[in-house]
Amino acid sequence: MKPPALLQMTAPLREDFDIVYHDIGSSDVAPRVALVAGIHGDELNGVFVLARLAAFLKSVCEGQQPGQRLCERVVVIPAVNVLGVNTRSRRWPFDGTDINRMFPGYAAGETTQRIAHAVLERTRPAYFRIDIHSSNLDFEELPQVRLYEPNDSERRHAREFGLTAVVERRMNTVFTSTIGHAWRECGGENFVIQAGQAGVLQPGHCERLFRALVTFLHRNGILQGAPLSHDDEDVHYFGLQQTFPLISESAGFFVSRLGVGHWLQAGDLIGQVYDGFHGDLRLDVRAPIGGLLSGIRRQPLLFEGDLIARIQSRHSVPEGVDTYLHGHGQ
Ligand SMILES: [Zn+2]
Repeated sequence: MKPPALLQMTAPLREDFDIVYHDIGSSDVAPRVALVAGIHGDELNGVFVLARLAAFLKSVCEGQQPGQRLCERVVVIPAVNVLGVNTRSRRWPFDGTDINRMFPGYAAGETTQRIAHAVLERTRPAYFRIDIHSSNLDFEELPQVRLYEPNDSERRHAREFGLTAVVERRMNTVFTSTIGHAWRECGGENFVIQAGQAGVLQPGHCERLFRALVTFLHRNGILQGAPLSHDDEDVHYFGLQQTFPLISESAGFFVSRLGVGHWLQAGDLIGQVYDGFHGDLRLDVRAPIGGLLSGIRRQPLLFEGDLIARIQSRHSVPEGVDTYLHGHGQ
């Protein structure tokens, strides 16, 4: 059966197209959870995982998962920027707008304003709201929960995904038209999950993310009887002053063999910068502090001032210039 459409749109010279969503569980009660991915059309990990999660939850409802039961209503929107997914575009293809700069949206507005409005209306009634991203084409993020000036309940529930890192951040005061800002006005509890890199599908990150979402649903009494793995990693909570962005001081080819999630000691090698013409080694990039490597640059063409890596420290670090958090990954 075809899932219902959040919004139906027409185009001058092609068939109409829909943004589909899944509304799973009893329609007599308000949704307990709303999950959203693909606001940026090239962030494929979240789109894939939410489509898989919707299929799984439906199979639970249909009795195909013995011993498991869905106790609450769940809304899943796997691909908000549905045309962007088809064209591998972060932005809305027709007019180049970033849907995550269009909230709260407007029902009688331009297409992306209407999309934002429809997404907000569909997710507003839920108590838990989860927005999934995958950084950008240049950078890979360890699957992690991001909290923006959270309350204590959000801090506590963020741990229930069982992901290695929960990272607290300030609200972005530059871009206030994100879904995160709009959700905050609605109350409830709101989470952003960052997982992997845009433009590619990363099965390892996808499996981890799927497990995290099922664990969260289970621990909040939304899904019963799911077999959870007992080898969950330790959860580490990083406050506002515990993120260190490592910024490049020279240009060249950046090469790293490290995977995200690696624990670094101060002085450990993160990667190398080579001269693009001569191939000479220009620089060993070393960790200035110890901590968890929560993100690393995968685009080799490196300019001065580019973000190379993010390290989550167990201790407070001086707050760096975090402009990348504003322009990227959200
Ligand atoms: Zn994004």
